[in-house]
Formats: sequence, C-alpha cells, structure tokens
Amino acid sequence: MPRYLFFLLLGICLFQFNTYSQNSYTRFDSLRGALNPYRTCFDVYYYDLSIQIDIKNKSIHGVNHVYFKTISTTSTIQLDLFSNLIIDSICYNNIKLDFQRDSNAFFVQFPAPLISGNNYTVSVYYEGNPIIAKKAPWDGGWVFTQDSLKRPWVGVACEGIGASLWWPMKDHLSDEPDSMRMHYTVPSSLMAVGNGILESITTMHPDTKTYNWKVSYPINSYNVTCNIANYAHLQDKHVQLNKDTLAIDYYVLDYNKEKALSHFKQVHPMLTCYENYFGPYPFYKDGFAMVETPYWGMEHQGAIAYGNDYTNKIIQFDYIIIHESGHEWWGNNVSTTDHAEMWIHESFTTYTENLLVEYFYGYDMSVRYLNLNKPLIKNIDPIIGPLDVNYEGWQGSDMYYKGAWILHTFRNVLQNDSLWFSILKGMQQEFALKTVNTQNIIQYINKKTNKDYTWFFEQYLYHAKPPVLEFYTEKIKKNIRIYYKWENVRPDFTMAIPINTKDAGLKYITPGLDFNFIDIKLKKMNKNIFNQNFNYYLLKEIKSNSVNK
Ligand SMILES: [Zn+2]
Repeated sequence: MPRYLFFLLLGICLFQFNTYSQNSYTRFDSLRGALNPYRTCFDVYYYDLSIQIDIKNKSIHGVNHVYFKTISTTSTIQLDLFSNLIIDSICYNNIKLDFQRDSNAFFVQFPAPLISGNNYTVSVYYEGNPIIAKKAPWDGGWVFTQDSLKRPWVGVACEGIGASLWWPMKDHLSDEPDSMRMHYTVPSSLMAVGNGILESITTMHPDTKTYNWKVSYPINSYNVTCNIANYAHLQDKHVQLNKDTLAIDYYVLDYNKEKALSHFKQVHPMLTCYENYFGPYPFYKDGFAMVETPYWGMEHQGAIAYGNDYTNKIIQFDYIIIHESGHEWWGNNVSTTDHAEMWIHESFTTYTENLLVEYFYGYDMSVRYLNLNKPLIKNIDPIIGPLDVNYEGWQGSDMYYKGAWILHTFRNVLQNDSLWFSILKGMQQEFALKTVNTQNIIQYINKKTNKDYTWFFEQYLYHAKPPVLEFYTEKIKKNIRIYYKWENVRPDFTMAIPINTKDAGLKYITPGLDFNFIDIKLKKMNKNIFNQNFNYYLLKEIKSNSVNK
C-alpha cells in the first residue's frame, strides 16, 4: 500500500482513524483477527472464485469454492463475508449446509465431522452490493468510476479491511491458498483483469465475457483483485540476472498505451535492482504485471495496481511503481501473519526504495532520500500494534519512514554490509512464499549474525518513543568533553553511534544508561557533534548544572 505522504503535505488526512482505543476491542475484532479453533481446524489450499459484476447496479454475484484440508477433526468451520452481502447457499457434496452469520463471519456446519487430514470443498453462493471505497486505496472497497472517455472503470482495494468485504473466504493473513483461480464475467465491451495469468476468455452469453485468471502461488487474500476497463494489453519480456526470461504484462487504458510503453521502461532496471538485492522475482510462472487503476496503487500480487498518472518525482523512477513492485518481495513473497505486524511489508518495502536510490544514485543520495522522510516520523504509536484483532489503528505512518530508518540504523549497527545484504536476500529465500511474524524475523537475524539483536528490534518496534541521546558538553583546553547517555531505552539497549571528530573522522561511542564521556577535537565548536545520517534517535542537549555529578 502506498503511504499518504503527499496528502498529509496537502493537509488532507485520508487515513481512517480507528474509532476504538487500544483496550476496547470487541468480540467482532477477535472474530476477524484471531485464530479460534474454527479457523485453526483447517488450512485452505485453493480458492476458485467466480463472480459476475453488474456495473450499473454496482453489485456482484457468484460463488467461491473453498478447498481445504482439515488440521483437526471438526463439524464447524469459520469463513468470512461482510454482513452487507447475502449468502444464498452453502453447498458441500451436493447438499445445502446450515450456517450461522455472526457480524462479518459465518460458521458453516457439516452434517458429520470432517476427519483430520482429509481434503474437503465447500461452495459459498453469494450476492449483493459490496462496500464502495470513499478514498481507495486507504479505506478499502470497490471503485466504480469512468475513464476520461466516460466508459466504465472499476477496481477494488481492500488491504486492512479485508477481502471478505467482497468475496467469502478465510480472512486471516496466516492462511494463504497455495494457488487460486478467478473468473470474472463482465460486459463484452470491457476486459476484466485479475492476478497472475489469463488462462482463457469464455463467452456463455453474447453480452458478456468471462475472463479466467490463475495464480500459481500462495497469495494474500487482500491481494486478490478485479479490474475492469477498456484495457490495452501490452507485453514485454525481462531477462533476469539468473538469465531466465520473465514475462511482463501491462493492462492500461487503451488511450494511455503510448504513454505507458515509454513510462514503464523503468520496470527493467528496477527489477534488475531488486533481483540484485533480494533474488529473482518470486512469482516467475505468473509473470510481472501492472494494471492501470482509478486509485493510486496497491501491491496486488502479479497485477500491481498503478494509478500515478505516469509521473516520476524526486528521482527518475515512479514512486508507485518502485514501492508497489517492492512489495512483490516484501509482503507478497514474505508475508506477515497478523495485520498488526504490517511493518514486515511496509518497512522493508520503504527501505527497498532507499536501496533502489543507492543502487542507481549512490549511497549518499539514499541517505538524502532517508533524510527527506525523517521529519515525517511521528513517534505517536508503536510500529507493532496489538495482535489478534486485525489491528489497523495507527495514527501515523511510522511503519513506512521510521521503519526504513530502523533498517538503515540496523545496517549501521551491524557495520557489515555484506552480512546485511545476505540477511535481506536470505530472508527472501528462508521465508519464500511463507507467512511470518516479527519474532521469526528477529530470530533469523540473530541466527545469521550469531548475535542477539532482540534488544534493538524490540526497542524500536514495540515502543512509540525512539531512543533519546542526552548529552552536554564542557570545554577542556583545546578539546571538547562530551557527556552522553541513552534515555528512554530498555536496560540492554547498547546501540553504538558515530560522532564527528576533527582528526579521526567518525568515532563510535556506545552510550549506556549512565553518563559517560569522551574528549574529542571538533572542526568547529557547533552542535554537529553527532552524525545522525547513520542511526535514528533523538538528541536532547541538557544543561551541565542540571546533572547530578
Ligand atoms: Zn506499501
């Protein structure tokens, strides 16, 4: 998902603030966000979703066939579909099943227990008017609009709020199907674009066409997408660093074909850069694809949503292309199990932008890019929210800018770039096509570095306020004596930071919880003692006479 920087700068906050405080979660939040026994008893391995979209009435109807394996014997499973949509029937082995709806969840009851370890299929027939997004992609929902020739242009984005706002499924990030098919029936003058590969186009009625799409890999449910417009299909090929030829498909409004052909040339160097840092494109069989959307962007797997008006800003790359495509590695290949830990998607993807700047413009420029975003760090709430409630109540966007700064900071704590880059690439291999949590990430880093950095990540991720370096100075002959200590940190926080010196260049100090000092020569007696291009923390100068010596 793109961050909403530009809108904040305009003074318009598009972010939906959560109406509940941290301690006021309801049973409905748990139904949505927690793994109860009716969810842990089965594992989805395939969805087959067929819907017809009625553009005039902004409605959908269809069926999702849910293929799953039971993990434990059960007679009831929980699936999810927003309560404003109607479930017509649920079928299993040609019989209609009983079900109970409970807010945005529903419980399916089988006539006899489903035995652990077996495969089953239920088919959920449904219809209705899905939620219309007020400001996609931030609030989530369908978008029914028109292109500039007044022809229909339809899309959907549901990150956070969840895919169950438009199709029935197990709406928990921890359970991705291994593959999926989507069949979208639309008026025959339009094209419907889903994720992955277009397997076929079928015509059952002269007025409609059905576009049959297949994703051959695990996919986050919120990444499943449907785009409808007068699309032109552009094809390209990309030779990867491993010499494999990756298929590239673009679906753009037909009148933007020429613009897109030129603007999307940047995809090749971008992919090369990401392959260099993270390994090959994770969804080779599906190919890389972008789809022009009536909203800014979204990381829809194998069908990246693009709506940035073919513009580059700041650098010669388009922010939406480089950010949303970065998610193919961070978010789509390596995915979080709980929405509260979306930093795994957004922090690494925002840091990926910095790596792209470093790759093409050099390290110093990437630090400038980081510093550009530094003033936007809010430090209002912890980057990781409460688990098991599908948390999305952040008041800032610290999982983006601060998250990128945390990773940059860790790189400088490590002071070993080859190890750092092997960690990034290693995570892409270790956790390929898997869902992970924060502890999995920290444990992996600890294993790779052979050192315990739990103190670092837990300090930054679970505390809203960043470390504060308290300091004061004294002049002693030609030297300056700097007293320093960490404030606002856990006792085992031992991050070393560089200071600028006249003779020795950068010199590292490791503050503790009590004041320590160092004598240095400075080029100038100014406040630029601490070089904050390396690590993210706040500086607080105090009066020396306020300190108990
Ligand atoms: Zn994002």
